[in-house]
Amino acid sequence: MPGSARILVVEDEAKIVDALRAYLGSAGYEVCAALDGESGLALFRETSPDLVVLDLMLPKISGERLCMEIRRSSRVPIVMLTARGGEDDKISGFAIGADDYVTKPFSPRELKARIESILRRSREGASPLFKTMSWNDGDLEIDVEARALRKRGEPVQVTPNEFKILSALVRCPNKTWTRDELIDSALGIDFDGYERTIDSHIKNLRGKIEDDTANPTYILTVRGVGYKFGGAETKR
Ligand code: CA
Repeated sequence: MPGSARILVVEDEAKIVDALRAYLGSAGYEVCAALDGESGLALFRETSPDLVVLDLMLPKISGERLCMEIRRSSRVPIVMLTARGGEDDKISGFAIGADDYVTKPFSPRELKARIESILRRSREGASPLFKTMSWNDGDLEIDVEARALRKRGEPVQVTPNEFKILSALVRCPNKTWTRDELIDSALGIDFDGYERTIDSHIKNLRGKIEDDTANPTYILTVRGVGYKFGGAETKR
């Protein structure tokens, strides 16, 4: 049983809200919903939900701003709803503090499965996606929540796009990314750069985080394919 977890849905499409209310409600969740960002924030403060399902394109306060606003005070799990190919897709949900995202159109069943697994992780205390992550014995650290990067304990300034690319890479440490996938996932499908833009971001990032850019240990080139993350996570 999912138990009595309370889920806040912030979404301006009434049809989606109705469907989620019915589906998640019948699965035993308590669902509350807001149709715009402003009332979403008010309802969040009022109800302290166990999980938030947040649409990115919202009237009044955008989903992106709402997500950041919530993250200022809370580590509540957030699942983003994004419309593929829309404005939404330009934003990397992870980079702004979401735990997961689901691309529209989605099935309520898929969303429910994501919600269950996130709630399970957060109950087991294993979820903290927003802790500081650290690699190679603390040589490189990311504070995802603060969007801060440190090399040997010293702050490293990166651009928002560099941060998004690195965030995408570290989230899937075993994945080899094509340039297309990185553009799509980190920068959004409407990003009007070409594949070479990724290469130049990677080059800049390497200059900031690698000891030897000719022999990188963090952002590895996979010949003929693209890139993958090579740092060894420091377990604490
Ligand atoms: Ca919307």
